[in-house]
Amino acid sequence: MHLIIAEKNIAAKRIADILAGSSTESAKGAKVRTGKENGVITYRFDDVITLGLRGHVVEIDFEPGYSNWRSETNTPRTLIDAGTVKKPTAKNIVALIKKLSKKATLVTIATDFDREGELIGKEAYEIVRSANKDVPVQRARFSAITAQEITTAFDNPAQIDFDLAAAGEARQVIDLLWGASLTRFISIAAKRGGKSILSVGRVQSPTLAMIVDREREIEAFVPEPYWMLSVETDKNGTPVTARHTTDRFQDRAEALQAEANTTAPLVVTSVKAGTRTDHAPAPFDTTSFIVAAGRLRFSAANAMRIAEDLYMNGYISYPRTDNTVYPKSLDIDALLSELKKSGLSREVTWTEAHRRKEPTRGKKSSTDHPPIHPAGAAKPEKLTDDQWKIYELIVRRFLATLSPDARWTTLKYLFDAGQETYTATGSRLAEAGYREIYPYSEAKETILPVMNEGDRLPIHTVNNEEKYTTPPPRYSQSKLIQRMEELGLGTKSTRHEVIGKLVSRRYVEGTPVRPTLVGKGVIEAMENHEVPITDPEMTATIEQHMEEIKEAKLTRDEVISESQTMLHRVFDALEAHEEEIGREIMGRTDEERIIGKCPVCGHDLMIRQTKGMSQFIGCTGYPDCTFNIGLPSAAWGTAIREDKVCEVHGLNYVRLIRKGARPWEIGCPLCNHISSNREALMMMPSADDAMIARLHASHIYSVYEVANIEPERLEQALGTDRATIACLREEAEGVLELLRKRSELKKFVRKHVVPRRGRSPAKVAAALVEAGVGDLGGLAAMTPAALTKMHLSEAEAETLLGEARAVYNRAALREYGVPAVSLKKYFEAGITTPASFCALHPAYLSLISGIKPETAWKHAAAVCTAMGVTPPEKVTAKALENGRKELLDIPGLGEAMLERLYRAGIVDTAGLAGADAGELAKVTGIPVEKIRAFQDACR
Ligand SMILES: [Zn+2]
Ligand SMILES: [Zn+2]
Repeated sequence: MHLIIAEKNIAAKRIADILAGSSTESAKGAKVRTGKENGVITYRFDDVITLGLRGHVVEIDFEPGYSNWRSETNTPRTLIDAGTVKKPTAKNIVALIKKLSKKATLVTIATDFDREGELIGKEAYEIVRSANKDVPVQRARFSAITAQEITTAFDNPAQIDFDLAAAGEARQVIDLLWGASLTRFISIAAKRGGKSILSVGRVQSPTLAMIVDREREIEAFVPEPYWMLSVETDKNGTPVTARHTTDRFQDRAEALQAEANTTAPLVVTSVKAGTRTDHAPAPFDTTSFIVAAGRLRFSAANAMRIAEDLYMNGYISYPRTDNTVYPKSLDIDALLSELKKSGLSREVTWTEAHRRKEPTRGKKSSTDHPPIHPAGAAKPEKLTDDQWKIYELIVRRFLATLSPDARWTTLKYLFDAGQETYTATGSRLAEAGYREIYPYSEAKETILPVMNEGDRLPIHTVNNEEKYTTPPPRYSQSKLIQRMEELGLGTKSTRHEVIGKLVSRRYVEGTPVRPTLVGKGVIEAMENHEVPITDPEMTATIEQHMEEIKEAKLTRDEVISESQTMLHRVFDALEAHEEEIGREIMGRTDEERIIGKCPVCGHDLMIRQTKGMSQFIGCTGYPDCTFNIGLPSAAWGTAIREDKVCEVHGLNYVRLIRKGARPWEIGCPLCNHISSNREALMMMPSADDAMIARLHASHIYSVYEVANIEPERLEQALGTDRATIACLREEAEGVLELLRKRSELKKFVRKHVVPRRGRSPAKVAAALVEAGVGDLGGLAAMTPAALTKMHLSEAEAETLLGEARAVYNRAALREYGVPAVSLKKYFEAGITTPASFCALHPAYLSLISGIKPETAWKHAAAVCTAMGVTPPEKVTAKALENGRKELLDIPGLGEAMLERLYRAGIVDTAGLAGADAGELAKVTGIPVEKIRAFQDACR
């Protein structure tokens, strides 16, 4: 049996399909059977089993004993030299590989073709070996999951490259040692734990330092003025603008002088025509691909994720590559004819007709991988919009590398205007070349009219513009990746992940990226105490030495031990200044939560989160000052400070951020607080604009405050007497109660109304409130017909009403004093509304529920009182029993008849005798003659 191990399930499936299709040429496409073994999907055909890993199926971790952060003996520093162990992360896959290996006669490792893939392959190899010492293990290497690449790779198997895998392993170990020990140290120093630990990493920190550096450059930047001169003229009616040959005047006086010296006519003194070659772009490596995708507004991580999807599905080659030169083995003709089947066939045909002799080539040539290129034909309808955009970019780039250069003709004029010289340059795209099929950079032409030496032109205006120098721009993600590559930080596979981590850990934000205060705080604390972790050089050295493991110049252990020495040096610096570093970071992180001054007492206002999900802005003067501003629950996102400041209140804006959701812009928290509380304040009957303005002036913003703060403060704010304030507070209590009921109603509607397109539960709730239905009782009292006007179908209205009545009545009856145990019995007997307690005789209530008569009477009396109905006369068990006996003594009156009489409130012969026979017959359904006969028997 031949066992094939791929990197992921989808790759395993495609490899199985391809090999099955080509292995038996006559019976084309041996059927691949999909099965599930040990919870792992497998693909079988002939005597072959293919399965996919889940990337790494083992992970490295420290030996036991290092998990306690507060351990006295195993301090963060001891992690540097702690031993590591490998632990399976996907136990079922590991177990299945072991099981299948025992029976295998051949194993092929078909993981991705790079350092990470080699390591994953080596991990699989070790699992195979642990179960079977002798089975031959081969390695299949391919750059795309296409029929041609896969069959070639399996026809020419190679061996695992243990040096390459060791390089990957060294990275794993080193990243663990650095990340864990530094993160632990810094978090403890800054007293951060749980979710808010401060992570520090070997690649991450120098990258962050770079971003912080750029921000400081921008902050320190002082714009300098400069002046630019130009003249407006025309040649036979075609307008022309000519610039002064001094591009920027640094001195205002000089610029004014030159302006004054500029006199008509403008004489053409020189005409130079030329051409310029606009080279077709080089093939894509990972970095240039991310840059190009960035121009299409894809984040680095997103672009890579989509590219990996396309690779797994055989549409493009492996997207992690440093190579920018197509290898000889790449069959470009075959690729072009394949791409004719894609949605870009027109562009392919054009390229074939205009093909350049040799494809373009970039500066980096390596043997592992070809540059990113399309591998299979795709049509837009087969892909998502984003996938298509990335695929199209890669195809067009590939075609561009086969297309001729573009050519521009240029025209440069020189002019004299009195004592000053001016110039104008024009350019025209003479041959579009690759630009025909690669439209991603704009070709901006400047067309100038034909002019000859000696031409004399008028001067319409002389412009003297004052401008200012601008600071360097912040890094875009793709610029950052380019810069990391230049500095040797990280690898093609990890750079975009490092940036993603900086974002998710809230060290940086925005596009282009800028550091948060925490991000700045961590870097500045390190730099202030000369902790060498922010210096890219050390990281680059390790990176370089890891490359040398690949070439067998250094061993895994040598490089790890070198990095441990470096890490000890970092710790020397850290431990010497532990306290200051902690304090500096804490200072910065507090600062990040301060949004301005308290309007009541002048202390700082700070964003605070409680242990639960609630968050608010509180005064640091608490408990002396209780001023606070409400914020939506943290379930909507964590509140963070923004740079913008409210013009009215001088407070920083706040936004709520939540992973995977668009941020919620709160704006000025106090403006938001005021507007969200205004409506509720206006619900107090005696509230008006003037009164609310007076409350605001005293920093009282919510009904809750009106109901709860000391009466003296209200008196002061409104300038009225105690009695008026007492009234007002009562009103506020009423509003709070109303709001509570309304929110209960909303919650109920949310629970029972299914959201539909264009009809959210919130919309239904809003319609109810609009119609004056403010609580569950109001809803329960509605008719189904009225409810169908609230975006509900008839059936939905019925169900909602039924639910509302059940819930409301149950709550009402509980409130009126019917205990839960009894209530259960009443409901089971079909007595479910307060009204039925008032209408029915307690004897009947008792009879059908099995509750004692006295108790049932007590319940009925309580409900009647609460409903404002005269309670029934007291019922005793003894009287009832007597009446019952009397009634049952009447010939022909049995238990069933008795129940009907009870229902009508007839509990003894006196009652029966005194009743109107006709009425009673109607209510009980007992024939009137029979009732008359009973009545006769009573007398
Ligand atoms: Zn305060
Ligand atoms: Zn405001």
